[in-house]
Amino acid sequence: MFTTKNHVMVKSLEEAYDLIQERGSVILGGIMWLKMGNRKIENAIDLSALSLNRIEEDENSFIIGAMTTLRDMEIHEGLNRYFEGYLAKAVKGIVGVQFRNGATVGGSVASKLGFSDVITSLLALDTELEFVHAGRVPLKDYLEMKPIKDVLARIIIKKDGRKAAYETVRKSATDFPILASAVSYNNGVWSVVLGGRPGAPKRMDFEAGPQLLEQEMEEMQRKMMEEMTFGTNYLGSQEYRSMLAKVLTKRNVEKISGGYHGH
Ligand SMILES: Cc1cc2nc3c(=O)[nH]c(=O)nc-3n(C[C@H](O)[C@H](O)[C@H](O)COP(=O)(O)OP(=O)(O)OC[C@H]3O[C@@H](n4cnc5c(N)ncnc54)[C@H](O)[C@@H]3O)c2cc1C
Repeated sequence: MFTTKNHVMVKSLEEAYDLIQERGSVILGGIMWLKMGNRKIENAIDLSALSLNRIEEDENSFIIGAMTTLRDMEIHEGLNRYFEGYLAKAVKGIVGVQFRNGATVGGSVASKLGFSDVITSLLALDTELEFVHAGRVPLKDYLEMKPIKDVLARIIIKKDGRKAAYETVRKSATDFPILASAVSYNNGVWSVVLGGRPGAPKRMDFEAGPQLLEQEMEEMQRKMMEEMTFGTNYLGSQEYRSMLAKVLTKRNVEKISGGYHGH
């Protein structure tokens, strides 16, 4: 359990940004991850009073406040309608409903956890992050950036007509994923994301039509294996993960296109 000297309920995002520059300051999300550690926090920055716990939908996008819980994202009618339950499926394996009522989307994305179902699924969509100082940053770029002292305010998902599918393998229902695969298709581009490799989730794009020929499927898998690396840890071996990657990705492609067209 961590200890805190000052608990600061900030009144604006700018106040949070100024405070996070100070040594020993930490932003609080749902503190589900933070409480596993034993940090000594000087200023615990609480964003609860900033109305960031809601999802808004406009013509072009979904705008998810950083303090929105995973559960609120999971059951959001608009997101479920537009992405056909894709994000709900991705987060359903995270511990349990009570846990997902606490953990936030902002804390999940900002922390760049390598096993994150949240990041893996959002990376296959056109997702941007809105930081107080850095402004809008594509999620893909954020994952490649060095850690920044900034406040994540919102997560923006474009409504670009994309179709997406998610698959994961866990040793038991609520364990960390051994491997997670998210695939999306939009306008001649297949995007393949693998999470839990371990390391940060990674995305690769492959140009092809909406119905993959068997040969194209093989080519896509080959490119995926070239660009992705897999590691061994207590959850699974490198070999097992690379086998899962091929199977889960193919399964997701089949779900999106209603079967790929071999033979
Ligand atoms: C036991 C356990 C099992 C889990 N299993 C899974 C799993 O299977 N799949 C999965 O995807 N995830 C899993 N998670 C991770 C979980 O889903 C959340 O991602 C995690 O708890 C972080 O969210 P939080 O709201 O609790 O963030 P916190 O713990 O509050 O914060 C996490 C980090 O993010 C920073 N932060 C928070 N909000 C912001 C912000 N707005 N701007 C900038 N930085 C911020 C904090 O300072 C901190 O460094 C698990 C976590 C635990 C504890």
